[in-house]
Amino acid sequence: MGLYATLIDAKIKCPNCGQNIITDWQFNFGSVSQLPTYEIGDDIEWGAQSYGEPTSEILYAVAYPSSERLCSNCNIKNMLALVKIIDNKIKGLEFYKFSKWVKETILIGLDRKAKYYKETKYKEKV
Ligand SMILES: [Zn+2]
Repeated sequence: MGLYATLIDAKIKCPNCGQNIITDWQFNFGSVSQLPTYEIGDDIEWGAQSYGEPTSEILYAVAYPSSERLCSNCNIKNMLALVKIIDNKIKGLEFYKFSKWVKETILIGLDRKAKYYKETKYKEKV
């Protein structure tokens, strides 16, 4: 997956049994060069190596669990989540789908249009 950002200690309900899962989630949006860590409520950082660009739009970054072991109750695996970002601020985490990997890195807008971003050099807008 290369460089990534991490949402740490984020809580999500197990989609299989309903138990709370707390783990770290890696995603590709905003700066990745310093492996930034975030909590819900933080603003997305931008830097030399970034995915996407700042937008006031609502978007969802596809997130991969940092731990193989997710739910201590039912042992589900290969679960992906979405980091919800509004106006460049992390608002929450929700279930996406059961999969090991998906091509898309971002879903944009309320209709969740899937987009794939490559890591690019971020240029400050003057
Ligand atoms: Zn479970």
